[in-house]
Amino acid sequence: MLPSHTCRICGTADNHPNFVGREMMFGTREEFEYFQCKCCGCLQIKDIPQDLGRFYPPGYYSLTVTNNNRTSPLRALLLKHRFKNAIFDRGYKLNQFLANFIKMPDLRVDTVLPVEKVLREAGVADFSARFLDIGCGSGSRWLADLRTMGFRHLTGADPFIKSDVHRDGITIYKRHIDEMTGSFDLITLHHSLEHIPDQESAIVSARRLLTPNGVILVRIPIVSSYAWRHYATNWVEMDPPRHLYLHSRESMQLIAEKSGLKLYSTICDSLEFEFYGSEQYLRDIPLTANNSYWLNKENKIFTHDEIEGFKKMARKVNEQGDGGRACFFFRAT
Ligand SMILES: [Zn+2]
Repeated sequence: MLPSHTCRICGTADNHPNFVGREMMFGTREEFEYFQCKCCGCLQIKDIPQDLGRFYPPGYYSLTVTNNNRTSPLRALLLKHRFKNAIFDRGYKLNQFLANFIKMPDLRVDTVLPVEKVLREAGVADFSARFLDIGCGSGSRWLADLRTMGFRHLTGADPFIKSDVHRDGITIYKRHIDEMTGSFDLITLHHSLEHIPDQESAIVSARRLLTPNGVILVRIPIVSSYAWRHYATNWVEMDPPRHLYLHSRESMQLIAEKSGLKLYSTICDSLEFEFYGSEQYLRDIPLTANNSYWLNKENKIFTHDEIEGFKKMARKVNEQGDGGRACFFFRAT
């Protein structure tokens, strides 16, 4: 029998197992075929739709969180001192004093990980660090939070925004990653890599933009997880057809090695969303349905105990390294 599909990550041609997923964010329920590579484990859409833009309607980007952390110059200065202690272990005494006057904001977005921990893991050394956020839309919450913390070299890139954005000290270019220039200490892809058709080219482009000791952080859904094993095509993170790739730990490692990167740390950062979203799909409730819990926490499709149970599950899978979302930290080899 002829092999049915060739894996776009490791090149293995075989009769890989097939899966059919449905569009459930907007609830069109259109079906899309995927296969999971027998060799590297990457789940991938069989045919990349020619009209991908159709699946990102105007409402899509407004669903992603943006913010304007406008803050007074004095508050900004005090916060910078507090974060200096939290990230770089410097200014301890001043921090103790300032703690009486100014509270640290909780800046984690869509993750259980505090930003300070992410920056420590990425080895960010001081406030001169240069950041690039890939696929961030026209407003990057990540970059806005870094600005609040005191960082100033903040750049984003997204080919699908209307035009370049210069706002609040942050510049976001309407560009593909392979069109970007410059060099950066921390390049982030927060849930954007899985939307990009050519995975290797995206990572190679990111590597080209790294400073010698720079780090690439990829935050992404992964199939090496309880959620995929348990929910399969009802797993909320499969998100057909926008998520073209649902990597395994092995396939992430492979793509990095092929691109001249070394994986040095992986941290799972699942939230209860992974569970209640998948439970919604099991009950045929799209994410943006009127009765969706995701859209409105007042919608009581789950009991308080069920939601607490989902939070507990998220903590458990994170601890066990079995979460459906992970942060992969890479350095150049
Ligand atoms: Zn493969």
